[in-house]
Amino acid sequence: MLEVKDLKATIEDKSILNGLSLTMKPGEVHAIMGPNGSGKSTLAKVISGHPDVEDFSGDVLLEGDNILELEPDERANKGLFLAFQYPVDIPGVNNAEFLRMAYNAKQKFNNKEEIDPFDFNDLIKEKLTILNMKEKFLDRPVNHGFSGGEKKRNEILQLLLLDPKVVILDETDSGLDIDSLKQVAEAINYFKAKDKTILVITHYQRLLNYIVPDYVHIMSEGKIVQSGDKSLALTLEDKGYDGLVGEAVK
Ligand code: ADP
Ligand code: MG
Repeated sequence: MLEVKDLKATIEDKSILNGLSLTMKPGEVHAIMGPNGSGKSTLAKVISGHPDVEDFSGDVLLEGDNILELEPDERANKGLFLAFQYPVDIPGVNNAEFLRMAYNAKQKFNNKEEIDPFDFNDLIKEKLTILNMKEKFLDRPVNHGFSGGEKKRNEILQLLLLDPKVVILDETDSGLDIDSLKQVAEAINYFKAKDKTILVITHYQRLLNYIVPDYVHIMSEGKIVQSGDKSLALTLEDKGYDGLVGEAVK
């Protein structure tokens, strides 16, 4: 479903990704864990086509097609979704309007009928219920004045609406209190049940109690240095990155 091959990226003459490879099959949940600055967000950005990272090489295949040269919206239309670590505010753009336009852009790409505001209202309310979000979030500008946790939920609202095939969640758990974390995890598990491919980027084991990964990868200095099953996240919690990464590179 998603195949990353020997991905390298450089930002301002500094090598950030150093030949990273990863294969994710349909229905699998992979977690990437790693210390601050190990290149996790850079990986998410290169896969999704974020303009922050211009200097890269390697391959990223989505259902067998190389997407690295495509525009971000083309990648999204093909079924890729990134929930940002730091979602941006868009003052002046109404959230409901933004969501409807994003939805219709995808409908158009897939030669499907666009949705009118009335039908959209029903559709988005159904998604709000899954996330236990209030309707007032639809009337406000995108993420503007939202708390950290509300922004993260708004990312998941987009996810449920756009129904992508491959999802990258970049520290979606940071900024969420324990109740919000559980609700967001529930929404992601609801989504996962539809045989989706999910890459969870996180610092903490905590989220993985709720979204159980099939594989856990430890990233250090732009590379995956160790992979294992969910128990690797527990070992990591026990030993810390220094202990584990130290062992892995020996
Ligand atoms: P992580 O998400 O694992 O904490 P990042 O991918 O955000 O790590 O960052 C990896 C490294 O790349 C860090 O040293 C960071 O300072 C650097 N970096 C990321 N984005 C930029 C940028 N736009 N300009 C300069 N350096 C950057
Ligand atoms: Mg990051």
